[in-house]
Amino acid sequence: MSQRISGVKGMNDLLPPDISVWHALESAARETFERFGYDEARTPVLEDTALFVRSVGEATDIVGKEMYTFADKAGRSLSLRPEGTASLVRAYVEHAVAQREPVTRWWYAGPMFRYERMKTGRYRQFWQLGAEAYGVSAPAQETELIDLAVQLFRAVGLEGIRVELNSLGDPETRGVYLESLRAFLRAHRGELCAECQERTEKNALRVFDCKNPGCQAVLVGAPAITDALSAEARAHFETLQRQLTLLDIPFRVNPRMVRGIDYYTRTAFEFLSEDPVLGTASAVGGGGRYDRLVKELGGPDTPAVGWALGVDRLCLLLQAKGAIHAPRPELFVAVAEDMAADPALALVSRLRRAGHRVDLDARGGSLKSQMKRADKSRAVFALVLGSRELGSGEAQLKPLGGGEPVLVRLDALESALAARR
Ligand code: AMP
Repeated sequence: MSQRISGVKGMNDLLPPDISVWHALESAARETFERFGYDEARTPVLEDTALFVRSVGEATDIVGKEMYTFADKAGRSLSLRPEGTASLVRAYVEHAVAQREPVTRWWYAGPMFRYERMKTGRYRQFWQLGAEAYGVSAPAQETELIDLAVQLFRAVGLEGIRVELNSLGDPETRGVYLESLRAFLRAHRGELCAECQERTEKNALRVFDCKNPGCQAVLVGAPAITDALSAEARAHFETLQRQLTLLDIPFRVNPRMVRGIDYYTRTAFEFLSEDPVLGTASAVGGGGRYDRLVKELGGPDTPAVGWALGVDRLCLLLQAKGAIHAPRPELFVAVAEDMAADPALALVSRLRRAGHRVDLDARGGSLKSQMKRADKSRAVFALVLGSRELGSGEAQLKPLGGGEPVLVRLDALESALAARR
């Protein structure tokens, strides 16, 4: 036998029956986005490396450690996208969308790539569902996006997902806070890991991303960014909280939640689940406001807010609930004699054209083995086709879950199936 080639570490195959859970989430997402007036945007998985360096930030773990970067055949540095926002902003700027409409609301779905240490719920290729809104500086935009995520969780029956909020203030006024944070971190330098000692000087906010328990313990006593907001940033944050309360969306303010990306201004938020199926990967999504990014990437000054949800993690939660199953065939057609094989093929094709979910065993074989296959398919009904049925034009529709068979006309099977849906 030839040597087997395995899939790439950290990149999962999505196979039946698990894929049904993904479909349920994707279709609920599409429906929810439509209800809120968001349109889909699709961008390539490869971008110029500079796009992520300039937007996500050089000092972040994502860009500094986790990107899949390589030179293409012409020597250009390209990266597999580690997140979606930068690509969508690039497309928004490149296609001059702001000139056509004052407000743009987009959603996207697709794989993202980060060279991370793997564990439950953390992979190297993972999927995100994201939403971005350009053109609105009012906190109502954050409120709408958080409401959208909460309605999506509800649409698929996910409960117990918490919302955490923070405000990172405005870049102009963040300097004062960063000085007091740096002073605090320098005073605890000996208790911080080597990397956080470096982060203290390079990009102090990033120490909050550190997973080291020693550093986390130090940070409990760190000055809170919410105590250092400008009057405008504070009013924005308070309005957002008032609006979420108005919409009956519970939340908790967490001044240590800063998100691992540099482009956020003012609001940052995360969606968290305590379900043990996720292990320590409790964040199922996150986002925030990024009012500077469109301009930094060469576009007009445009306020923006967005979030991304981790589809793999949401699907783990849905799978654990066990509420979603693959769709069942309505009918399984079994062939009693060779002469009925072609008519069965034609009958199945006819019913499928009429919109029914119908299956048969193309291998043929004994009637007993076909009926076993019918049971395994979880079909609602089975129908055996042989010379007798073809001669009379009638066959028994047999409920596989038990119950009395009913005699139906073969030329009226469509209506017989429709009546029993
Ligand atoms: P982030 O913007 O990095 O917070 O990512 C948003 C969401 O994507 C997170 O809350 C996770 O649910 C999901 N996510 C991020 N990284 C991974 C990963 N390596 N594997 C699986 N899901 C991830």
